[in-house]
Amino acid sequence: MPSQLSQLAWIDKEQDSMLQLLQAWANINSGSENIAGLAKMTDVLSQSFAKLDGTIKQIHLQARVIINEFGKPIEVRHGKALSIIKRPNAKTKVFLGGHMDTVYPISHSFQKTTRLNACTLQGPGVADMKGGLVVMLKALEAFEQHPLSANIGWEVLINSDEEVGSVGSEPLLIDCARRNTLGLIFEPSFPDGAIVSSRKGSSNLTIIAIGKAAHAGRDFDKGRNAITALAKFIVMAHELTDIEEGITLNFGHISGGGPVNVVPDLAICRLNVRTVQPDDFAYIEDELRKIGNSLESDGLKLNVTVQHIRPPKHFDKKNKDLFEQIKHCSAEEDILLMHRPSGGACDGNLLSAYGLPVIDSLGVIGNHIHTKNEQMTISSLVSRTRLVTLFLLKLASGELGTVK
Ligand SMILES: [Zn+2]
Repeated sequence: MPSQLSQLAWIDKEQDSMLQLLQAWANINSGSENIAGLAKMTDVLSQSFAKLDGTIKQIHLQARVIINEFGKPIEVRHGKALSIIKRPNAKTKVFLGGHMDTVYPISHSFQKTTRLNACTLQGPGVADMKGGLVVMLKALEAFEQHPLSANIGWEVLINSDEEVGSVGSEPLLIDCARRNTLGLIFEPSFPDGAIVSSRKGSSNLTIIAIGKAAHAGRDFDKGRNAITALAKFIVMAHELTDIEEGITLNFGHISGGGPVNVVPDLAICRLNVRTVQPDDFAYIEDELRKIGNSLESDGLKLNVTVQHIRPPKHFDKKNKDLFEQIKHCSAEEDILLMHRPSGGACDGNLLSAYGLPVIDSLGVIGNHIHTKNEQMTISSLVSRTRLVTLFLLKLASGELGTVK
């Protein structure tokens, strides 16, 4: 049987091809709402992952419902998700997850990759997370070349709606959590290479204040001002932020009203709530409804709508055990793998909440993600692929014992 080391040496020779693949993928715009770009990305990924000889499927995702500027619910379409499954009847099955969408719409100025220097590539999605998708592909390619691969099965799911909350792919992710032994997600790690341990929960809400329009001069008293009601709501709700408890409410967007000589009958705000404890979100939702009710009066109404919820992810025993196994592999590579909590949420939150042990930042080392300076460390393409391949080989050889 070939040694694990020979597999890793093959990866070292692949750095240039990995970099070229990453540049090609990052130069395709696949903003979460660019359906044509996501379709192209799905096809390109399908072609690349086809060499793994698994069962490939492109899966339609359900649309998500958002509240438009008139306070009405509308449906927003998603791209398709890509699923590749190999040896589904194996006893141990590894879930490998990623997303093909980015936060940059087609109208954004940041569209192409630039090689900043010998070590760094800048570009949309190079770290979050097309670099991670390259790592995932190459690690599976290296693993499949080894006879030990016959011992375990795996399943890849690459969704197209992660950056907008994975509402459409949530049912698929839940199925993946239920039928796999453990999960590896290829979000970028911290700039110093540390892995994310716990993650906060993240939920988006929309508050709609509905008042009564009236002439601001003639019938001022007959009007009910939606903007002032919403302003009171925001000031009261802001008090729910509790930094010590890890609870934050960020009012990120506000709209409403029109001509200043009309009492406005509609105002809308959108907020993001982050929590650490599992029950905190239900508490906040309840408090927001109470505040809304307290401000209602004849002709004035405040509706609280929850758009989507991602539960907090704890660095609990199952996740710690998996981290220790990966850290053990990392030590063989002479890398001290560290971990640290993050306020950011990802699909790992949902998978962990459904019982899957998951480490969710095994992608490339990245920096300035979600900005037009997004960049990644080129050498991490090889170092992360080596790490993931080594983990898969050791898992398949039984060296790591059983997980779960
Ligand atoms: Zn991401």
